Amino acid sequence: MSSICILCSQTKANLFQKVIAKHFGEQKEWHYLICANCELIFLEPSERLENKEEKLRYSQHQNSREDPGYRRHLLRLWHPVESRLESSESIGLDYGSGPEPTMQQLLAEKGVSLQIWDPFFANAPSFHNKSFDFVLCNEVAEHFYDPYKEFLQLDQFLKTRAYLSLGTRFYDSSIEFAS
Ligand SMILES: [Zn+2]
Repeated sequence: MSSICILCSQTKANLFQKVIAKHFGEQKEWHYLICANCELIFLEPSERLENKEEKLRYSQHQNSREDPGYRRHLLRLWHPVESRLESSESIGLDYGSGPEPTMQQLLAEKGVSLQIWDPFFANAPSFHNKSFDFVLCNEVAEHFYDPYKEFLQLDQFLKTRAYLSLGTRFYDSSIEFAS
């Protein structure tokens, strides 16, 4: 099994790991590929979830704004930006804000203006001509189906002197692909 890399398009990616996991009650095989050029690991594109299945999965994420651990987790992306911004009037974007605009609420408590965009939960096309002083992108990049295009889009959202704060995980052998 092989596929052209969805990030660099340079080479064919080959099988990295086969995972058997439940999918809506049924056992299903999933194939993860690795690119020999950029080392991106990604799910074989033909095995991706349907739009409505993907939305349902994100809707089931249970995180409470009141949970201090979750607040700390989210704000770790904000702190490096906060120390660099020169103006208190700065406006940011939460790219892939998810079912609840929690980051927006946390920054509102600090008097910081944050707009939200999400393909499933906050999809306003008018955003696509705007640019921001900073963009936050937390646990989103690993879900990109077309990472090359998404990173170009992120670049367009950034003003000339702006900051992108992106939280994701690099691969390590403890990651459970089945989950
Ligand atoms: Zn690649």
